[in-house]
Amino acid sequence: MQTINQLDSLRDSICKLKERAGTLALVPTMGALHDGHMELVRRAKDIAEAVAVSIFVNPKQFGVGEDLDAYPRPLAKDQAMLQAAGVDLLWAPPPAQVYPAGFSTSVHMTGLSDDFCGAARPGHFDGVALVVAKLFNQVRPSHAFFGEKDFQQLAVIRRMAADLDFDVEIIGVPTMRDTDGLALSSRNAYLSVEQRAAATALPNAIKAAAAGIRGGGDVPCFWPMRGTA
Ligand code: AMP
Repeated sequence: MQTINQLDSLRDSICKLKERAGTLALVPTMGALHDGHMELVRRAKDIAEAVAVSIFVNPKQFGVGEDLDAYPRPLAKDQAMLQAAGVDLLWAPPPAQVYPAGFSTSVHMTGLSDDFCGAARPGHFDGVALVVAKLFNQVRPSHAFFGEKDFQQLAVIRRMAADLDFDVEIIGVPTMRDTDGLALSSRNAYLSVEQRAAATALPNAIKAAAAGIRGGGDVPCFWPMRGTA
């Protein structure tokens, strides 16, 4: 597996990969990899002849006071996991490669990004859409894999890719969960034992709602929608 952190080397390597592989999958991540990320890699390997993974902690999707500096960055461990999984290329640019001095372009999403996580984190999905659009241009994948764990993000990315005419198939991958039902997440490391136990209320509520829908019963709306909170 090649690890690349400069854009000109990436372009050379992508050209060479595309000469030998008819399909190239991209799995965008922020690193601190766990089995949820690796499930995306496994799905990508099933479908595409070559697989590229990106690791980039994107400053533009973090709000003021969020955990940009504290976000875990165990690059050597991540590299070893990707190498063992048979990934062809790791794109791990420093921030200045992605946002060089003078960078002044934004992507602004509306509609799908307004509620839920978007309401709590103003500007978050604009930052996600911008970096994913850049990654699509840099890597030019035929397929790109995203987790259903971040369901609103998946919907926003599908919309952005369609709106901006990216020729890439977006594939959603079901959520990988721990034995207690909590979705695997790099940020679970921040939880105390008590917080972790409390957090399982969410998957339990979702499971109960899903069972209710399947059984044809009434399902209460748990989420305050814009204008009703
Ligand atoms: P992140 O590194 O948190 O930006 O996540 C990178 C990708 O992995 C995103 O598409 C996430 O939705 C996906 N992902 C993270 N955790 C999981 C999980 N537990 N199951 C499935 N996909 C996941």
